[in-house]
Amino acid sequence: MPWIIAAAVAGVIAGPRIRASVFSRSTESGLPPRHACPACDQEILPDRWRWRALLPVTGRCPRCRARIGPYPLLAELATGVALAVVAARASSVWELAALAWLALLAVPLAFIDVAVRRLPNPLTGAAFAGTLALLAVAALTGHQPGHLGRAAIGAVALACFYLVLAVIRPGGLGLGDPKLAASTGAVLGWISWQALLSGTFAAFALAGVYGGVLLALHRATRTSHLPLGPFILLGTLAAIAL
Ligand SMILES: [Zn+2]
Repeated sequence: MPWIIAAAVAGVIAGPRIRASVFSRSTESGLPPRHACPACDQEILPDRWRWRALLPVTGRCPRCRARIGPYPLLAELATGVALAVVAARASSVWELAALAWLALLAVPLAFIDVAVRRLPNPLTGAAFAGTLALLAVAALTGHQPGHLGRAAIGAVALACFYLVLAVIRPGGLGLGDPKLAASTGAVLGWISWQALLSGTFAAFALAGVYGGVLLALHRATRTSHLPLGPFILLGTLAAIAL
């Protein structure tokens, strides 16, 4: 319980940093990271040391009050919940480090995908490299080579699965989804084969329910494109929680 509370508090503290990442990367494909408010052109993030930048939890521009990010406290709440879930699951410090690393990159990825339907390579790349490296340390220190083998197979299998979907339905799925799935596949495979299956199933079930609700409310049509990244991540979180 103390771990879970500490993880939730860490999430709330990390929120303003995650907001900076979401703001900076919520650009169209091919454009550089942004650092000025789109409404009033006020510089919000510095050019240098941007990794240290923080944005207010209100999600609004400090100067013109235009909305420039997730709703107040939403990024903080999402990070706190994600970190609390992985803290409750992890059985070693290095396993916790691997899961927390992915959680801290998953939250900005989900918000960026909702905002601009993209999963930027620097974030999916950092998520995969860091998660795999930390899982490798967890396997070495915990003498769990079998877990690491499952993680590697899970990463390849899930990335290939989403890659095939992206090739079959190029409009519905981007190449960011297979890249993200390499990270979630590694974590789910590390936990168990069962988690790999149930996490993937949960992603499609959640996306299906959400799409159905949008259709029923006439907020979407059958040809609308949902961002799949948040559902891949929510399905993974659900499998980690259970
Ligand atoms: Zn502004």
